[in-house]
Amino acid sequence: MITILEQPKTKYSLDYYSGDPIFSGPVADLIKSAEKAKNKLKDRTIWMINSTAQGGGVAEMLPGLITLMNDLRFNVRWGVINSDDPDFFILTKKIHNMIHGDKSANVNFTENDAQLFESINRKNADKLKSIIKKGDILVVHDPQPMHLGKIISEECGLLTIWRCHIGLDKHNDATDAAWNFLNKYSSPYAHSIFTAPEYVPDFFRNNHSIIHPCIDPLSHKNQDLTVSKLTGILCNSGLLPAYEPIATPDYKNRIKKILFDGSTGEPGETGLLFRPVIAQISRWDRLKGWLPLLDGFIKLKQSKITGDSSSHSQRHIKRLQLSRLVLAGPDPTAVSDDPEGLEVVRQVKERFVSLDRELQKDISILLLPMESAKENSLIVNALQRCATVIVQNSIREGFGLTATEAMWKRKPVLVSSATGLKQQVINNKNGLMVTNPEDSDEISECLVKLIKNPGMAYNLGRNAQRSVYDHFLVFRQISQYLELFTRLLK
Ligand code: UDP
Repeated sequence: MITILEQPKTKYSLDYYSGDPIFSGPVADLIKSAEKAKNKLKDRTIWMINSTAQGGGVAEMLPGLITLMNDLRFNVRWGVINSDDPDFFILTKKIHNMIHGDKSANVNFTENDAQLFESINRKNADKLKSIIKKGDILVVHDPQPMHLGKIISEECGLLTIWRCHIGLDKHNDATDAAWNFLNKYSSPYAHSIFTAPEYVPDFFRNNHSIIHPCIDPLSHKNQDLTVSKLTGILCNSGLLPAYEPIATPDYKNRIKKILFDGSTGEPGETGLLFRPVIAQISRWDRLKGWLPLLDGFIKLKQSKITGDSSSHSQRHIKRLQLSRLVLAGPDPTAVSDDPEGLEVVRQVKERFVSLDRELQKDISILLLPMESAKENSLIVNALQRCATVIVQNSIREGFGLTATEAMWKRKPVLVSSATGLKQQVINNKNGLMVTNPEDSDEISECLVKLIKNPGMAYNLGRNAQRSVYDHFLVFRQISQYLELFTRLLK
């Protein structure tokens, strides 16, 4: 049943962040919000409840959030619900997929489903009831523990908030049925939090806030990398031959590259440090728009690149001729239970194998090792930093942390207009946006624009970092939570 986790230990304390001149401003703002919230919150425990301690975005985000809130002298605890009946998680996975519009399963719910959902939540809630005290605040993350929040609100009178990390900007039979199922548990909640206005179901329309996901700027994925650390990661992971001695040992699991004939092997020299690199680093999911991006790059390479004889124009032409595409995602054979990943890699590979050898040389399809979360994050970080342009060509996107991470690294991004990406990018201000992610001509035109205009690309990257600094760092998210709690307690 529910497990109350030890206080998480993360790499850095708030003091460490504020010691960095870049973060001293955001941390000072956070400390001000904390001061304002202190009186209302000081004798309360804030409970974060979700359904997994490891894996998934929520579990990745909570330790940093909780550590920093505890550093601010708030008492925050993390509880993870559990079930001895595997059918509970099959049911909650079905709800999750249906909220994303998946109609492949039977979209009806039975009386038994409701009973199972409620009985598991009841057992978890009963244990939590013996630990919580009057005046505490409960933040319930995602659908799995939703009924637990209802019980605690009704039986203990706690302020309860539902934080939903998922959503879809359209509705169909599946989304309607899933929300209808969850509606039964919604009314005792004082408030709800969503990632985008488009995701809010009708029954929370009048009591919701929007809080965007955020990144930790000092995590392995986002921390600054010195040049020797960056080249070390490229060498250790197999992306760069080490022609000088390297201090760190090679990674046990190295990157695999799709070779010209479709087999997989060592990447060898990919030109990452020398070429203009266009990169998309994402999950191998059809909705990430891999094939139209690949086609857009092929069009860029096949287009007749012309210019006048000025050295300026010649340099732009050279840039386009030298540009390379990197498509990278988790090795689907390392992620158990990822048949979709295997299928998407197969489709991308099929297209790649059909290309001329000269074109193939300009395209690297990389399968990233997943065995070590730290090494995977460092590889993603290094790849993002080597890129000249980062693309997130999603057909659908909940938020798109890959774009946030790239923008934080001052990269010009090319994104689609999927709902999550629209929360972050303003076209021509802090990135470029394609209107149709399945239109390879439009993608190609935007890529040409970014590669040909380094001045424009630089300014977009600069504005991109500024928007992440202002809106999507962990400090701001904590302030938003504190302001919300204080407002709701009034
Ligand atoms: N990611 C990763 N390793 C990979 C590919 C992706 O760690 O090989 C990360 C990526 O950096 C980002 C997350 O997976 O932090 C994906 O989050 P996003 O919000 O972009 O999309 P989702 O995968 O949740 O649909």
